[in-house]
Amino acid sequence: MYAGLLGDARLYEVLQDIDEDLAAQARSVGCRCGGRLHSAAYPRKPRGGPVGLGASYDRRLSYCCAREGCRRRTTPPSVRFLGRKVYLDAVVVLVSALRQGPNPTRVRVLHDLFGVGERTLRRWRQWWQRGVAEGSFWRAARGDFMPAVTASELPGAMAERFGAHRTDGLCRFLRFLSPITTSSCVLSGGGF
Ligand SMILES: [Zn+2]
Repeated sequence: MYAGLLGDARLYEVLQDIDEDLAAQARSVGCRCGGRLHSAAYPRKPRGGPVGLGASYDRRLSYCCAREGCRRRTTPPSVRFLGRKVYLDAVVVLVSALRQGPNPTRVRVLHDLFGVGERTLRRWRQWWQRGVAEGSFWRAARGDFMPAVTASELPGAMAERFGAHRTDGLCRFLRFLSPITTSSCVLSGGGF
């Protein structure tokens, strides 16, 4: 059920809007030294999305402090890009979820649909169970889930709770996860 959503071009427009909103919030806060932020986007070549993604997907929004002697980098949270991962955020989340549960989608099918290979799937699984489950974001967030979500159920069980088979549910889920996409910027008002 997630596969159709990932092929829907409209989803990526909504995610683009959310990212621009997050970037605008980060920019209005400015650098922690008090300096203004100048645009300094990172070039990206994201994988796993539908053909014909807009040119806006060629870069991740990011800023540098304009003040001489600071020049600190501020990269806003994102619902499109997940840290340094080359695959789109939504693809990492939903393809990981498709591999879980009592009836996991077969590796071959996922490869045909999204070009994601077995090694990448294994790496993602380790990352969910160690990088995310043992990190500060999840330590703070897991208490919000009742019944509890265990590390081995990440991210599938959370995707279900958010109703991530629909565009609005997936967007809320990615917004919820967005603090893990950057280590240089914290915005308030994440949550559900
Ligand atoms: Zn600064």
